[in-house]
Amino acid sequence: MARFHNLGFPRIGAKRELKFALESYWKGQSSREALKAVGVEQRKINWALQSKLDLSPVGDFAFYDQVLDMSFTLGNLPTRVQGFHGDALDNYFRVARGRSAQGAEEHAACCGGVAAGEMTKWFDTNYHYIVPEFKADTAFKLDASRLVEQLAEASAQGVKAKPVIIGPVTYLALGKAKDESDKLALLDRLLPVYVELLARLADAGVEWVQIDEPILVTELEAGWDAAFTKAYRALNTGKVKLLLATYFGQLQGNLPLVASLPVQGVHLDAINARAEVDALIAALPAQSVISLGVINGRNIWKTDLNAVLEWLEPLARQLGDRLWVAPSCSLLHVPVDLDSEQKLDGEIKSWLSYAKQKLGELAVLASALNQGRDAVQAELAANAAAIAARRNSPRVNNPTVKAAIAKLDARLGRRKSPYAVRAAKQSALLKLPAFPTTTIGSFPQTSEIRHARSEFKAGRLDAAGYKAAMQAEIARCVKEQEALDLDVFVHGEAERNDMVEYFGEQLEGYAFSQFGWVQSYGSRCVKPPILFGDISRPKAMTVEWIKYAQSLTTKPMKGMLTGPVTILNWSFVRDDQPRSVSCYQLALAIREEVLDLEKAGISVIQIDEAALREGLPLRKAQWQEYLDWAVESFRITANGVADETQVHTHMCYSEFNDIIKSIADMDADVITIETSRSDMELLDAFKSFEYPNEIGPGVYDIHSPNIPNQEYMVKLMKLAAERVPAERLWVNPDCGLKTRQWSEVLPALTNMVQAAKALRAAS
Ligand code: GLN
Ligand code: ZN
Repeated sequence: MARFHNLGFPRIGAKRELKFALESYWKGQSSREALKAVGVEQRKINWALQSKLDLSPVGDFAFYDQVLDMSFTLGNLPTRVQGFHGDALDNYFRVARGRSAQGAEEHAACCGGVAAGEMTKWFDTNYHYIVPEFKADTAFKLDASRLVEQLAEASAQGVKAKPVIIGPVTYLALGKAKDESDKLALLDRLLPVYVELLARLADAGVEWVQIDEPILVTELEAGWDAAFTKAYRALNTGKVKLLLATYFGQLQGNLPLVASLPVQGVHLDAINARAEVDALIAALPAQSVISLGVINGRNIWKTDLNAVLEWLEPLARQLGDRLWVAPSCSLLHVPVDLDSEQKLDGEIKSWLSYAKQKLGELAVLASALNQGRDAVQAELAANAAAIAARRNSPRVNNPTVKAAIAKLDARLGRRKSPYAVRAAKQSALLKLPAFPTTTIGSFPQTSEIRHARSEFKAGRLDAAGYKAAMQAEIARCVKEQEALDLDVFVHGEAERNDMVEYFGEQLEGYAFSQFGWVQSYGSRCVKPPILFGDISRPKAMTVEWIKYAQSLTTKPMKGMLTGPVTILNWSFVRDDQPRSVSCYQLALAIREEVLDLEKAGISVIQIDEAALREGLPLRKAQWQEYLDWAVESFRITANGVADETQVHTHMCYSEFNDIIKSIADMDADVITIETSRSDMELLDAFKSFEYPNEIGPGVYDIHSPNIPNQEYMVKLMKLAAERVPAERLWVNPDCGLKTRQWSEVLPALTNMVQAAKALRAAS
């Protein structure tokens, strides 16, 4: 009989209970005991939802982050928080969130300033983990208390527990050697702690341990494959059985390595790596368990259960007890419960499945495989009907959009003249000074703005009242920019709740959930819009606002749009067509908006691609293919305009080394980027590539409340001018200002404009 299990469940809660409990505790509004009780309760709820499974994950719950949990389990605390004499949970939050200095010297370890651990993206998801820190002399020491306590809770609840831990090689690979030492050299010190941990789990009555090694779906650097062999020889003590879990991609060249490791089972992401299933079965020892992730843990669509069964039934006959079935990865990356959704369109809702519903799908597969399809005939028929309804729905399929995609042509993405010709025409029209100044789009989203929007959404403020409130805010932004004497203005984005949602709400083919929250980091969640159908733009989305803003000034007003790649990367997208096709559809829709802005007399248009880089696939070998369609999508969006129209793009990071050629291929007239924290060193990529167009390297770190002074910004711009010819430099902040206060923004921008004027005077 096949066995059914799960790799991990969202811990944030169906109504984000954990988020609110954490934030209340951090603000000092509730006790540690109350927070811990919410943790206990949430675990209980999650296990109850998984009670039909043969094995449920234990240890997947984290108050902040599962990688940080593992660091604490391994006793790998940054030196700066060692010796803390308060509660362990508080120390954990100090690493997670940092702490500003307060109190006296002797309290340096407990209430002095502590820098937060660095945070970075968990593989190609939008989840961020706290990066483990290493030094040549890092020592490890087991603290199994978290897992042992949770196992006791699980056992009291009658849960068939399978502890989940991050494997030693992935743990090392994800961390950072703060002293540039060789992380791999720590493996010998790390393995005994893992051996001890497994022994403790065995003592607690555990049979199987899920040991996550997702690094196996990436290209391993030299020496790391040998580390796997060494590690798993050491961990194969016979005390517990190990299920080595890989997910998010294919094993490719690592498949023989995986098959050679002395573990009792392997989990493969059969959504991404279905093509490798047969090869893996053939390569694994005859006793080995093979766990197949057949339900997508990364999207919100119902699984086509009948199709999965067609494929699984012969495998079940072949493998018998050796077959395990699960979601492709932890369900952490999907929202919790579709049943919470009250406002979602019923038809679209019938196509969806959140974490709880995905467990339901798993249960149906279990019955069908182990008792025969007849046992769940009604469920399978309902599933088949939902799958067919989605496939054939006229709301998914728009023949006009499909025809436009079929006619895509490289000419759509090409400007009429090369940059040098355009630059001359734009300069004649815009008459900008040297070192022109601008901002990235948003101005502070004040509580008045948010209040007006919530009143409008609740129906207490009518459309005319809302429009008037937003126009007043735009007028205020324009007036402030006049007073600051900036060169290229923005309208301030008051009317936008979010740079993706704002556009998604106005495009056909998008749906919005109320409770589709997914943890991004700590207590922060995102609610990605759902791209379900062919995309079209029924009417202009931004033109009225921008025209209004332009009517208030003679300075050029930037039209402000979010680019197709960013909209795609920050949405749940269709699984019934390639990402590239959805992206091209978005590109055509936003292109219409660009052309409408141009027609309305707007001469500078910015198309943000904040998330272009984060869409890079896990494997470098697939980067070029992604970059090709992503860049082409941007070009289709942007490049239909006349030579005189200046196209800007913006990206919120500055690691361009790997992608600089693609950035240049986008051919935006101006790119603004985030650089202020890097002393402009990150412009080196632009220098060595001889990037041909204009660049605005950020000189004002908008993530910090600090107000940069004029000298500092002049210094940064001089460093920039060592790398990019001064005549192609702009002066601007790192990113939008929506999270800042006016009281911070005004002095900072005053200094920024003064810096630009000083540079002009000196040149
Ligand atoms: N135009 C957007 C803003 O200023 C850009 C935000 C971003 O890059 N994340 O808010
Ligand atoms: Zn940005």
